[in-house]
Amino acid sequence: MVPVEPPIETPATLAEAYAVLAGSTADATITPIAGGTDVMVRINGEIGEPPSRMVDLSRLGALRGIVVEGPFVVLGALTTYTEIRQSAVCREHLPALVEAAATIGAAQIQNRGTIGGNMANASPAGDTLPVLLALDATIVVGGPRGERTVAADDFWVAYRRTALAPDELILSVRIPLAAGRETRFRKVGTRRAQAISKVVMALSWREAGPGAVATRGATATWSDVRLALGSVADRPIRARATEAILAGAAPTSETADAAAEALAAEIVPIDDVRSTADYRRAVAARVLHRMIRDAGGW
Ligand SMILES: Cc1cc2nc3c(=O)[nH]c(=O)nc-3n(C[C@H](O)[C@H](O)[C@H](O)COP(=O)(O)OP(=O)(O)OC[C@H]3O[C@@H](n4cnc5c(N)ncnc54)[C@H](O)[C@@H]3O)c2cc1C
Repeated sequence: MVPVEPPIETPATLAEAYAVLAGSTADATITPIAGGTDVMVRINGEIGEPPSRMVDLSRLGALRGIVVEGPFVVLGALTTYTEIRQSAVCREHLPALVEAAATIGAAQIQNRGTIGGNMANASPAGDTLPVLLALDATIVVGGPRGERTVAADDFWVAYRRTALAPDELILSVRIPLAAGRETRFRKVGTRRAQAISKVVMALSWREAGPGAVATRGATATWSDVRLALGSVADRPIRARATEAILAGAAPTSETADAAAEALAAEIVPIDDVRSTADYRRAVAARVLHRMIRDAGGW
């Protein structure tokens, strides 16, 4: 069968894009296309439902750029992984996001794939999503009814489903600049490039108390702990029971043991083509243990 290319429109302004998206109906949605690295996989209908009509976002300058805006780093939805890796702002303020970007696909995917596409695609294995959860990001979305913000915690609502309405676009993601915040990222896949995660994890915390810097390491207690994972549930998740163990604790070996045990009990991964539930549970626990050990310096 010769695949039929769906009609595509290329608006130059957000208003024009919203006008196109207003034609979306429950039966015939209009599919935005950014880098196309997920959409093009579906284009011939062999994997998933092919798009019936598309709106190309590439001319929307409002969706580009990485800037510091007050107490936030703001990344436009069309920001590519290569741009994240090369950005001095991201390297300084968001090293875990830079690390995540470096693990995605390989150079070709990093050159085209966008952070907005990763968020909207809403794969449970999307590698930037745990980082955005751990960094307490807010997603700015826009549509014919105006703009609104959605906390990352509320954005991925079910398997491959987001809080976006069919006629809305992701415009940008805002990440707070929290003084003294530490972050760690780890992806476990079959190999280092072109691998979908078996487990992906991001952890952030602040070392509590005025003397925290002086006592950095195994004696400094943690606050604002956020632990997020991908590939262990139907959507990217926070591991809140494990966070509760880490909050107010110091990164000692006892804390690491307790947190790893709690995480293994808290997540409910599945067996699938990439891994088994048992492996995912064991690896998630070990990765967390290692992060705490490294932070504690023991
Ligand atoms: C070979 C290969 C390797 C890959 N490796 C990885 C990997 O290691 N880790 C990983 O996480 N992903 C990986 N991916 C998936 C993909 O590259 C990422 O999800 C990427 O970020 C998608 O971005 P994009 O701009 O290409 O999205 P597109 O394909 O253009 O769009 C993806 C989805 O998002 C929607 N969309 C895009 N932008 C917006 C917007 N601004 N507003 C609303 N909706 C929007 C589209 O309608 C579509 O549903 C891989 C894909 C391939 C083909």
